[in-house]
Amino acid sequence: MKTGLVSELKNKLGCSDASINTLQTKGYISISEEVVKDLHENEILKPLPTLSAIQKKAYDKINSVFNSNKVCLLKGITSSGKTYIYFYLIKRALERNEQVLYLLPEIAITTQIITKIKYHFGNQVWVYHSKLNNRERALVWKEMISGVPGIVIGVRSSVFLPFIKLGLIVVDEEHDFSYKQQDPSPRYNARDVAIVLANLHKANVVLGSATPSVESFYNAKSNKYEMVEINKRYGGIELPEIVLVGLRNELKKGEQRPMISKYLLKEIKKSLDKNMQVILFQNRRGYVPYFICEDCGAIPKCLNCDISLTHHKQLNRLSCHYCGYSKKATNICLSCESEAMKSSGFGTEKIEEYLQILFPDHNIGRLDFDTTRTKMGGADIIKAFENGDIDILIGTQMLTKGLDFENVSLVGILNAESLMNFPDFRANERAFNMMLQVAGRAGRKKTRGKVLIQAVDIKDKVLQMVLHNQVHSFIKEELEYRKIFLYPPYYRLIKIYLRSEQKQILNDCAELLAIYLKAIKYCEVLGPEMSLTPRLKGNYVKQILLKMNIEKVNLTSTKTNIEKVLSAKKFLTQYRRVKISVDVDPI
Ligand SMILES: [Zn+2]
Ligand SMILES: [Zn+2]
Repeated sequence: MKTGLVSELKNKLGCSDASINTLQTKGYISISEEVVKDLHENEILKPLPTLSAIQKKAYDKINSVFNSNKVCLLKGITSSGKTYIYFYLIKRALERNEQVLYLLPEIAITTQIITKIKYHFGNQVWVYHSKLNNRERALVWKEMISGVPGIVIGVRSSVFLPFIKLGLIVVDEEHDFSYKQQDPSPRYNARDVAIVLANLHKANVVLGSATPSVESFYNAKSNKYEMVEINKRYGGIELPEIVLVGLRNELKKGEQRPMISKYLLKEIKKSLDKNMQVILFQNRRGYVPYFICEDCGAIPKCLNCDISLTHHKQLNRLSCHYCGYSKKATNICLSCESEAMKSSGFGTEKIEEYLQILFPDHNIGRLDFDTTRTKMGGADIIKAFENGDIDILIGTQMLTKGLDFENVSLVGILNAESLMNFPDFRANERAFNMMLQVAGRAGRKKTRGKVLIQAVDIKDKVLQMVLHNQVHSFIKEELEYRKIFLYPPYYRLIKIYLRSEQKQILNDCAELLAIYLKAIKYCEVLGPEMSLTPRLKGNYVKQILLKMNIEKVNLTSTKTNIEKVLSAKKFLTQYRRVKISVDVDPI
């Protein structure tokens, strides 16, 4: 083994034993051999449960999509039993001695699936994510390159495993933005890479979601993909009852908006009295501050880009971080003329403290960015909630990701507006998906669940579509808006980030690049603008956004032209130390 690898290295690099020895003695490389122990033990496998008639129908349809060599988009409402359909597809692939990649957006939710899948497939299941140590990763790597049939359950990085006989890729929760790796490079979207990978292997792909991404839906509508739908929950359980709770009525002049309305408070008490669990959903901490009218719910948006303006406290200005449009922040609302415009947003920590005062006899847990940074990635908190050791779980995005809890009767979404006002063009898609996904956590077994959505303006269009579970209408509207304001899937976006310790040099460099980029045909240039995180590790950060009309632009030549502009920078001594990174299809 050891000598085998060394000779392989020698062949590849065309170097001698002597040079390898020298590298080793100088300490640049080390050669060692380790036997990695097989982590699996012998288990007794359970047969898969029989599919319901609805599941079976979907399963058959998926197979016929596979036969036509198309990507299958499986749109099944929450709790419709998609997982066991995947398991049957996996079983079929394994029977053909193929390898399977089962992608999930987050480590924390892999734990639930792993338990389930091992139950049926035992030692053919492998797990792959960044929290594994090198030894564990090497083991999966070795198995896949050996070509043995098996299932890898993994997060986005597992698309780079050396599969030999890949037959099936399942991309679960395909709409999830966590599939996109933003930083560091390589910047890629694992869902899109999965489709390319499947092409290379002539493998089948199924993209699954209750709330498909606008892009995938568009691909299905334009016949690039084929869509299979399940519109009933497994076992005939009803979708939860959704109630929109207006926060405006409760508010007296000058009063602080309550984090939890009286109605929601009453419902929480009711659930706890029945020994049921509660999930409360709030955006992640340190979310971008925006302005909202406490009277009518209006939010100032950019006239050019239709994204919400971000509030810069020090300057007291509202500005568009796409095109740079900015105006003075005032407390007067342009829609209703009341003086109720305010900076908004509160985090999960505050809510936790507040609930501990309200419910001193109950256990309250928090699942957010801070608590999921640990080695367990939040899995310990999820486990505790599953076991009933936590009564109320407050959480962020993580909660929307396909988790399955039996005993949850109530889900509260505390601040719907804060979801819809992330300053980017996907804000509505993000909010719509999150709300339906988190609502889907209520009443998955036994009884019908209840979902309370708190908002200042409950007549809001997006909220109304959440209320009626109108996925198709939502995406149709969203596509129209994207067409008007020139966003994907009609336009291709590229974001260029520039970083430097010196502000002036950064500004000059960004301005110059923007001028050159503007000369590229069919390429619209927005910015340079301050990035949403204007200072990063001692660097100032600016961004330039490029928009390209997909129908007109020649992507290959545009790419070459952009590269030319960016590399020309290095001839200018003063800008040599400005760092540039390019993000294609940013999220
Ligand atoms: Zn107003
Ligand atoms: Zn703008």
